[in-house]
Amino acid sequence: MIALSLAEIAEIVGGQSHDIPDPATLVTGPVVIDSRAVEPGSLFAAFRGENVDGHDYAERAVAEGAAAVLATRPLGVPAIVVDDVQNALGRLARAVVERLGTKVVALTGSAGKTSTKDLIAQVLQRKAPTVWTPGSLNNEIGLPLTALRATQDTEHLVLEMGARGIGHIRYLTGLTPPRIGLVLNVGTAHIGEFGGREQIAQAKGELVESLPKDGVAVLNADDPLVRAMASRTEARVLLFGEADDADVRAENVRLTEHGQPTFTLHTPTGCSDVTMRLYGEHHVSNALAAAAVAHELDMPADEIALALSEAGTLSRWRMEVTERPDGVTVVNDAYNANPESMRAALRALAAMGKGRRTWAVLGQMAELGDEALVEHDAVGRLAVRLNVGKLVAVGGREASWMQLGAYNEGSWGEESVHVSDAQAAVDLLRSELRPGDVVLVKASRSVGLERIAQALLEGF
Ligand code: ATP
Ligand code: MG
Repeated sequence: MIALSLAEIAEIVGGQSHDIPDPATLVTGPVVIDSRAVEPGSLFAAFRGENVDGHDYAERAVAEGAAAVLATRPLGVPAIVVDDVQNALGRLARAVVERLGTKVVALTGSAGKTSTKDLIAQVLQRKAPTVWTPGSLNNEIGLPLTALRATQDTEHLVLEMGARGIGHIRYLTGLTPPRIGLVLNVGTAHIGEFGGREQIAQAKGELVESLPKDGVAVLNADDPLVRAMASRTEARVLLFGEADDADVRAENVRLTEHGQPTFTLHTPTGCSDVTMRLYGEHHVSNALAAAAVAHELDMPADEIALALSEAGTLSRWRMEVTERPDGVTVVNDAYNANPESMRAALRALAAMGKGRRTWAVLGQMAELGDEALVEHDAVGRLAVRLNVGKLVAVGGREASWMQLGAYNEGSWGEESVHVSDAQAAVDLLRSELRPGDVVLVKASRSVGLERIAQALLEGF
C-alpha cells in the first residue's frame, strides 16, 4: 500500500480519530481484517462477522504492530471511528487507486474467474508490476483489500468481481473503476439466487456499463448473452473466442494426450502457438480472455503465447493433477462446481484417461434452485456419454440424481455407485483403484470433497 497518515485516512473515510497520539503516524499497510495477518504499519479493519467480532481483536492487532484500527466505536487503542467499516474500506480503496492512477482490469463471469485472473496476472506480470486478487477474494471486502495492496510501482491491478445479485458488480466497479472490463461467460452459477440466466446476464453486464468511453469491454464472442453486452457499454468492444469474427481467437484447438490444450493464438498483431500446462479445454476460453487483455495492454502475440504456455495454477484445488508413484493419477478439482465446470472437468478427464480406467468422484452442485434435478441428472448422463469408467456420486439427494442420470442414459449398473459421504468414497476407492487409473474429484465448495483427493494421496 502507499503510505498514508492516519490524519489523511480519517479524512478520506470521513472518520473520527480516537486515542491517536500522533495523526502523522503513517500506515504503510497492508490493510487486514484478521489480526493474525497484522504486520507493523498495518491498518486493522474491524468487521463483525457471524461468529466473531473484529472489535474484540483490536487490542491484539495494535499489540502486533497495527498503526490503528478502523472501527465503529472507540476501543481504547488508536482508532478511526466510522459508521460503517465496509463503506470506509471502499472509500479508502477508491482514493488510493485514483491517486496511483493504476490501470484496473476487472473480470467477472459464472465460471473461470479465478483461473482467468491468475492467467492474466501471470501474463501481465512479465510486462510490468501487477497486483491481483488472491484466491477468490472477489467480494465487497476482498476487492478493496486487494486494491489497497497496490503501490507506486503497480502498473496493473487485476480484480476478480463476484456477483450474487443485481447491483453487486455496480458497487464493486464504483470502488475501483476499471478501464478494461472482461466478461467470461453467463452460466448457471448461483442461478437459484438470481432467478434465471437473463438476470445473471443483467448483473454481470453491470461491469461493462461502468466502463468509460476510452475503456475496453472484452467480451466472449462464443457466449451469446455475453456478446449481447456490447450494446450496454460506451467503451470499445474487443471480442475473444473461437468465433470467426473474434479479434483474439484460437485456431487448431485440441487437447494433448495429457489433456492440456494446444492451439494457435491469433491477436490483431500476430499469431503464435500455445501449449498450456493447465488441464482441460475450458482453459482455451480463459487463455483467450487473458490474451485479449494483454493485447489491450500492448503485449505482442508471441510474448502472450509464451506466458500462457508457461502459466501454472496459482489457486489450489482447481484441476490439481498429482501422479502417485503407483501410477494412479488424482485430479483434485474440488474447489467448486457448477454445471459448466462439471462438464469441462468431465471432458478433461475423458481426454486424460484415454486408454486408462477413469473415475469421476462427484458431489453436489449447490445453489441451482429449480434446475438442480435436471442439472445433476445431466452430469450423470454426460459421464456415460464420455465413457467415464466409473461414477462415484457422493452425498445426499443430488448425488442420487447423478447416479440415476447415468443409469438411465446407459443402463449403467455397477459402473455408477452412490455413497453417502466422503469417507465411504475413500474406502471404496482405496480398495478398487488400480495402477494407471485416473480419478477426478469435484463438487461445490460446501461439500469439501478435497478431503477425498487428499486421502487418496496420503502415504504416497
Ligand atoms: P468462484 O465463483 O467460486 O470464485 P470462479 O469463477 O472463480 O469460481 P474458477 O475457480 O476459476 O472459477 O473455476 C471454478 C471451476 O470452473 C473449476 O472447476 C474449473 O475447472 C472450472 N472452469 C474454469 N474455467 C471455466 C470455463 N471457462 N468454463 C467452464 N468451467 C470453467
Ligand atoms: Mg473465483
